[in-house]
Amino acid sequence: MKEQHSKRVLVTGGAGFLGSHLCAHLLAQGHDVLCLDNFYTGCKRNIAALLDEPNFELLRHDITFPLYVEVDQIYNLACPASPVHYQYDPVQTTKTSVHGAINMLGLAKRVKAAILQASTSEVYGDPQVHPQTEGYVGHVNPIGLRSCYDEGKRCAETLFMDYRRQHGMRVKVARIFNTYGPNMHPNDGRVVSNFIMQALEGRPITIYGDGSQTRSFCYVDDLIDGFDRLMKSPDEFTGPVNLGNPVECTMLELAAMVTELTGSRSGIDFRPAPSDDPARRRPDISLARQALGWEPQVAMQAGLERTIAYFRQLREAG
Ligand code: NAD
Ligand code: UDP
Ligand code: UDP
Repeated sequence: MKEQHSKRVLVTGGAGFLGSHLCAHLLAQGHDVLCLDNFYTGCKRNIAALLDEPNFELLRHDITFPLYVEVDQIYNLACPASPVHYQYDPVQTTKTSVHGAINMLGLAKRVKAAILQASTSEVYGDPQVHPQTEGYVGHVNPIGLRSCYDEGKRCAETLFMDYRRQHGMRVKVARIFNTYGPNMHPNDGRVVSNFIMQALEGRPITIYGDGSQTRSFCYVDDLIDGFDRLMKSPDEFTGPVNLGNPVECTMLELAAMVTELTGSRSGIDFRPAPSDDPARRRPDISLARQALGWEPQVAMQAGLERTIAYFRQLREAG
């Protein structure tokens, strides 16, 4: 639905999985969208359908470098999100979160824009409290393989809150839990895309560890609705706020769901568990319910069906 007052909105990481859905959502609301990406993990395919829209602009840029543009709102999503990608060049991952946040906050400060940070459930590390509430300060290894991502995102949260306290800026922090859906990269390495691609190609489903670890998966449309509500919430509400689906499942259960829904005969290939792999993760979304009136609407089966259809189409397109 079109909004009355259209805004100029910058989406960093706009050619990625979540960013591409957000750009489409903002355009549908009548906003001018400036999509920024360095195409590290994002791809043009995700935004191909948007390129002809008159209100859409694409800028190739790396947010670790300063950026001078005039906008009203910023969604800061730029950062590789899959462990395979963020561990490929860990120094760049930390720079993207930390230098990137400083640059985008500096920009927001100069143009007086509201700015939303895509933070993560990884700020909780391997949690000792279950489910995770925003008040839990986390259990993070500062020197492990996941630290470039976890600590980078934690530092970005620090910067957001300090820019708010020091400069009175309008900031919003969303702690996103595992999200899936169309436009995930097929070779992204994340569990939902891996399992679906393996099932569709008749390859064994790779389960890391014994498959008893849990995650809680949120369908992308629900997440984007959460972003929208958070950006529109009163200035006093900064978060951090958990955005995720509280329905928890084990990786064994996920593998069974994917094989059933794809009709695949793939077996299971158990591989060693990666280091620092969190054993359990489930959001407590009481705050999002109360402050944003938000909760996920799309059940796992419906979301997986849409995602499987997307990957099928991608394979057929070659
Ligand atoms: P993604 O990898 O698909 O998208 C990230 C995008 O950022 C890509 O298009 C990439 O090219 C771009 N990018 C990376 N570094 C950049 C840089 N230095 N400058 C400019 N662009 C850069 O990942 P996603 O799943 O869409 O995640 C988007 C954001 O949401 C990330 O910040 C991620 O940490 C966060 N998040 C995602 C999830 C999830 O489950 N998808 C969960 C928690 C947090
Ligand atoms: N910055 C930017 N675009 C702007 C304004 C600032 O990219 O429109 C970057 C610039 O690199 C700056 C950083 O944001 O160093 C932080 O800005 P801030 O105003 O907080 O601090 P400064 O370093 O300018 O004192
Ligand atoms: N995982 C798995 N097989 C895969 C990819 C991932 O069993 O092919 C596991 C991984 O070890 C983790 C869970 O699935 O326990 C979620 O992994 P993902 O990389 O998607 O996200 P994150 O660990 O960041 O939550």
